[in-house]
Amino acid sequence: MTVFVCVCVCVCVCVCSLNSRVTMDAAEFRRRGKEMVDFVADYLENIEHRRVYPDVEPGYLRSMIPSEAPLEPESYEDVLKDVDRVIMPGITHWQSPHFHAYFPSASSYPALLADMLCGGLGCIGFTWAASPACTELETVMLDWLGKMLQLPEDFLAGTKGQGGGVIQGTASEATLMALLAARCKAVKCVHESDPQRSEADIISKLIAYTSEEAHSSVERAGLIGGVGIRMVATDEHFSVRAETLEKMVAEDKAAGFIPFFFCATLGTTPSCAFDKITELGPLCNAENIWMHIDAAYAGSSFICPEFRPLLDGVEFADSFNFNPHKWLLVNFDCSAMWVKKRTDLIGAFKLDPHWGIPLGRRFRSLKLWFVFRMYGQSGLQAYIRKHVELAKVFETMVKKDKRFEICAEVVLGLVCFRLKGSDELNEALLKEMTHLGRIHLVPCKLRGRFVLRFAVCGRTTELRHVQEAWTHITELSSELLLKHHS
Ligand code: PLP
Repeated sequence: MTVFVCVCVCVCVCVCSLNSRVTMDAAEFRRRGKEMVDFVADYLENIEHRRVYPDVEPGYLRSMIPSEAPLEPESYEDVLKDVDRVIMPGITHWQSPHFHAYFPSASSYPALLADMLCGGLGCIGFTWAASPACTELETVMLDWLGKMLQLPEDFLAGTKGQGGGVIQGTASEATLMALLAARCKAVKCVHESDPQRSEADIISKLIAYTSEEAHSSVERAGLIGGVGIRMVATDEHFSVRAETLEKMVAEDKAAGFIPFFFCATLGTTPSCAFDKITELGPLCNAENIWMHIDAAYAGSSFICPEFRPLLDGVEFADSFNFNPHKWLLVNFDCSAMWVKKRTDLIGAFKLDPHWGIPLGRRFRSLKLWFVFRMYGQSGLQAYIRKHVELAKVFETMVKKDKRFEICAEVVLGLVCFRLKGSDELNEALLKEMTHLGRIHLVPCKLRGRFVLRFAVCGRTTELRHVQEAWTHITELSSELLLKHHS
């Protein structure tokens, strides 16, 4: 009897302590979830009043939180308090209308809600059977998007062609995937004509090419893929021309190398320049070189008929990629990639057929579906056009002030400019801007010169923000020039 009572008490205590350890039940999740939606909406609604660039030193956070994870559970209130105390001071407010650095990181309410649903469903779509809706919606959304861009039918899955689209996490992954697929194809091709040659020997002779203005991820893909990569010089518009690539290919072939991959950029990171793919494409096709197009930022603009000519020549490409998570109102991460021949991509991995590096895949196409349906193509086009117009306004203001110069053609939402004068002067201007934290810009190097990049990034950026930014820049410049001359 005593033993029975003891066991009962024990079990009871254990169950009770288990129950008390339910960190958050559905009822509390409902309440906290609604509060979190309010928190995010308040944050985004009032974001422009915050200092866009944080005023903290490297390592600021470590001393603000314990050095080990808590042994016992803490309350949600305490966690949330620390979001305000610890996290917010160290946030760069990418969604602020005063944020003009890098390229945009897209965000919209429909995409945020779709992301929440994706987290809630928590399914991992690595095969069709692992979650059929996940695989099927992704295929259809990439076809929708491909049609919005007027991609050649070859790239679409729901046609007679052999192509199709897939969502990768980032443009860097897409470039790596394309390079690995091209490498596999090149090895097979050489092996067929020369079966004695080892795979290692062939790979040691493979050469990839990309613009000197290309994103660093292309060079990294070459490193990871274990192939040589050469940078192609650009013309006065920072564009790669066929003539230059042709010479390099001829030189390399004469030296016993095997040119196999060219990564073209449409919308380079420093200045949004466009490689001439209408002339590069036929060259690559004739030389059996896989042409991949990285249009990470600019790709979103191709949904507007007036910007679609920038994509002319895509018909020569083997693969094409851009980031809806940059400029198409779809929150990170969502990078859209298409291939003309899906077996090239899937066959690049000798184990199971896969379209990408990770096995696990989130249900990211939900974000595309929500955004496409709630904005419509016309809403998305209007959004792109507004950013381009704001960039043009900024360019006009820069041009009117004789102390400044424009450093690259303004095609989309990026303006490259600088104060006429030394790099030091421009560096000092940017340093002061960053120190004050009212607007945020980052620099680039163009032909060795220090240049400021003004990108229209925010979903809520209006004309007044662009005008205020310019006033701020000119006031700081006047002070700086006065100091400089005194
Ligand atoms: N390619 C270009 C032209 C870019 O501008 C960028 C980033 O700005 C990237 C690639 C890298 O994009 P991701 O972060 O998606 O890898």
